[in-house]
Amino acid sequence: MCGIVGYIGGQAATPILIDGLTQLEYRGYDSAGIAVLGPSGARRVRSVGRVRDLEAALPKRLAGKAGIGHTRWATHGAPSEANAHPQADGAERIFVVHNGIIDNARSLREALQADGVQLTSDTDTEAIAHLVAAAEEDTLEQAVLATVGRLTGTFALAVMDTEHPDRIVVARNGSPLILGVGDHEMFVASDVSAVVRHTSQVVHLDDGECATVTAGGFHLFTAEAETVGRSATTVEMTAAELELGNHEHFMLKEILEQPQSLERMLTGRLDDRFATARLDGLNLDPQAMRRFKRVKILGCGSAYYMGQLGASVIEELARIPADAEPASEFRYRNPIIEPDTLYVAVSQSGETADTAFAVQEVKRKGGTIVGLVNVVGSTIAREVDGGLYLHAGPEVSVASTKANTHMAVGFVLMALALGRVRDLSITDGARIVRALKELPRQIGEIVADGAKIAEAAQLLAQAPSLFFIGRVRGYPTAREGAQKFKEISYRHAEAYQTSELKHGPLALISPELPTVAVIPDDELLDRNIGALHEISARGGDIVAITHDTVEVDTRLKITVPKSEPELDPILLMIPTQLLAYHAALALGENIDKPRNLAKSVTVE
Ligand code: GLU
Repeated sequence: MCGIVGYIGGQAATPILIDGLTQLEYRGYDSAGIAVLGPSGARRVRSVGRVRDLEAALPKRLAGKAGIGHTRWATHGAPSEANAHPQADGAERIFVVHNGIIDNARSLREALQADGVQLTSDTDTEAIAHLVAAAEEDTLEQAVLATVGRLTGTFALAVMDTEHPDRIVVARNGSPLILGVGDHEMFVASDVSAVVRHTSQVVHLDDGECATVTAGGFHLFTAEAETVGRSATTVEMTAAELELGNHEHFMLKEILEQPQSLERMLTGRLDDRFATARLDGLNLDPQAMRRFKRVKILGCGSAYYMGQLGASVIEELARIPADAEPASEFRYRNPIIEPDTLYVAVSQSGETADTAFAVQEVKRKGGTIVGLVNVVGSTIAREVDGGLYLHAGPEVSVASTKANTHMAVGFVLMALALGRVRDLSITDGARIVRALKELPRQIGEIVADGAKIAEAAQLLAQAPSLFFIGRVRGYPTAREGAQKFKEISYRHAEAYQTSELKHGPLALISPELPTVAVIPDDELLDRNIGALHEISARGGDIVAITHDTVEVDTRLKITVPKSEPELDPILLMIPTQLLAYHAALALGENIDKPRNLAKSVTVE
């Protein structure tokens, strides 16, 4: 689930591995390690904690021009030095780094122990190292293929063998893996960000593929040892986009970037003449778009909440029944896949394992699925029938902000395109196009004026528990607001439909439990205000997120510019990002890398 880097070429491997691991830090992990192959054999160093702890544990000299490194997010065995990767066989000939989970690890480990192998870790990964070492095949490639054939589960692997120091052999099944092509040097990584400083030429491996990587290049092959011809593609990401610049945290940097990143996302996608969105990447012509009777959106966490927001916009603009469901649930409940439903997978990384499996389930049953994905060339982006890239740029903070906003805007574009081949009038289409064009500037206004939001965050940070409420259009915004708040401030934050308060949770309202109320200026305004009175009457403090035009009598009022009703929930979400940020800041939490969480959840 975490990070892999590998290097082979003419330079010293250690600094490249450490730098690559540092770039992968944002994904969240608990321990790290490297193994370097030098003139005097292989050296392995591992440590619990940060990459800088690993760096501190390195010996003065760790020479070698080939190596592999790993940041671990433990699934089998506690975060400890012995469980950190690279894992090795008893003779320390074979070194393995692994992302993912081996489902049959237990039986493999038992079989190895029955053969007299001494296991030194609790990991599933260690079994791989022993199996490769014990394989009787002639080449490392064949030994890896034979081993991979015995594994069930998900993996991205990089394997080094002291007896074949000129190569690293890699394999992929269900966890991302790329090769970076340099000049007489090659890189291996689980994420492009680990190699962009060195090369912009990358090769994506597909599931079931392996590769031999040498200083001179790479050879891609299948499980049947058949050669795969694939050339490198150029990545758009630049190293500068991964720098913190003048900012204290990536989360704040990414919140502030939204006006520019959205401007970029919308470029070329709005059609003034026909008042619609140009989404050629969906690969759906107007006839195909009209055919759908239903839209089903699949995502996890914040992407799921954005899917809820999207479903509401699609119903409003295109009048197609639409709903969102957590992909993590969908894939396990034997879903009924309908030919006239448009399935939409949403994921920032494009590597979210639960969503990727849901995509496969839909495709296997013959459904049509498109993607809303940020990372170009990622697993989900490659598997869907068509899609819409979010173009948010790299998002480093584990708590997603700008990618969420881009997802929401992506759904508005999709709703506009679906609506305009149905009954959405050109006048209404033009109204949405105008509103979309205004959005970046309006978001700029909100993020430029964070003082009120910071004040509200100070208040909320003191409460051990709080509610986020919203109704109909405002509810997904409230859910996402609560999610962001709990992710980084570790405060209990629960989202409720405002309309449901009096059906139960009102019992909890007291001066100790504040409420953040999301209140768009729409046809439900009077009802929302009524609910605020019910909270105030019971002594509950309220922070209202609303528009200037709305009069509320609450402890604090945060206002956002008014857009069209369909787009207001997006603007109302921006202050919730800053609320979470400032609350975590006030509490002194590790904002960019919250405990227990990883950026792209590539395990089930
Ligand atoms: N399952 C392996 C372990 O627990 C790898 C986890 C990871 O992807 O970091 O060591």
